[in-house]
Amino acid sequence: MRKRLLVLSAALCLMFTACKPYDTGAERDFYAMNTIMSVTVYGRGAETCADEVQQRINKLDKLWSVTDEGSEIYALNSSGSAAVSEETAELVKFALRIADRSGGALDPTIYPVLKTWGFTTGEYTVPGADELARLTELVDHQKVTVSGNTVTLGEGMMLDFGAVAKGAASDEAARILRESGIQSALINLGGNVMTVGSKPDGSKWRIGVKDPTGEGNIGVLSLSDCAAVTSGAYERYFQAEDGTVYGHIIDPESGYPVDNELLSATIISPNGTLCDALSTAVFVMGTDKAEELWRSWDGEEDFDMLLITKGGEAIITEGAAELFSLSNKSLTLKVVERQ
Ligand code: AMP
Ligand code: MG
Repeated sequence: MRKRLLVLSAALCLMFTACKPYDTGAERDFYAMNTIMSVTVYGRGAETCADEVQQRINKLDKLWSVTDEGSEIYALNSSGSAAVSEETAELVKFALRIADRSGGALDPTIYPVLKTWGFTTGEYTVPGADELARLTELVDHQKVTVSGNTVTLGEGMMLDFGAVAKGAASDEAARILRESGIQSALINLGGNVMTVGSKPDGSKWRIGVKDPTGEGNIGVLSLSDCAAVTSGAYERYFQAEDGTVYGHIIDPESGYPVDNELLSATIISPNGTLCDALSTAVFVMGTDKAEELWRSWDGEEDFDMLLITKGGEAIITEGAAELFSLSNKSLTLKVVERQ
């Protein structure tokens, strides 16, 4: 009897081990790109894939950090012109395209302004109006050229990938996982969410949209094979001595942190880099210009958006309306149609 029990438990143990790679999620939580990242991968080879994703994101962080003296962006910002890797050149070109499409609301050459405010170091100051006027002269994406893999900036200009790097990293992560045959994963790079496939049980991933005014979520997006990226001043800000709160997203025209009717802007699209770039751009543009951009969008990949306004509205474009469930009943839901 005892022997039989032993054989049975050994068999069960074997079965469990054999099944384990299919059922268990491999989770990695780590710090990169100035934020906390979490990657959960399900399926065969999940552990190895999760490690590979973490390593790749760390590598991209080393390439794109503005403060790391060994990064390509640092080299470019120090010399004004540098030969960079393929992935860096591609991201510069992408950011420049969205800068154009957003009328300069997203501008990767914002760094001189951002640095002076102290958003990269945490040593915050409120620059004077004259200084900001001088610094905004240095912000102009149209003066950046990319020839082959050589990026050249105008005199005194500097690049920052803060608005696009996490989205690009999420696309890379998804690519690595899909190429390895992973059909279910959740990638959360500091609020830049990318979903690979659906949950292991086949249902969609439920992604909370943060309440920009406090704790918790205002609602949930149900997504599969799709990214959702939110921008808002609440993510990173400082309070000056006079009590004024300054957020980390800068209006390139004025050099001041954005202060419009928006509390947050979420972009939904399978393309994570597009989501990241547009969430920042749309937050700068404000509701009306954002709606115009969405209506006239003729990019290869489409997007949807969810805007939360200070006036208590949750404005969602029609393509995402069915994916979104609003739980904060103090907000009024408005669906925007393309035509
Ligand atoms: P996100 O959280 O994706 O909206 O990106 C915000 C980050 O992008 C900031 O922390 C800055 O590093 C950078 N940034 C701020 N304002 C702009 C802007 N108008 N265009 C491009 N990058 C910006
Ligand atoms: Mg962004």
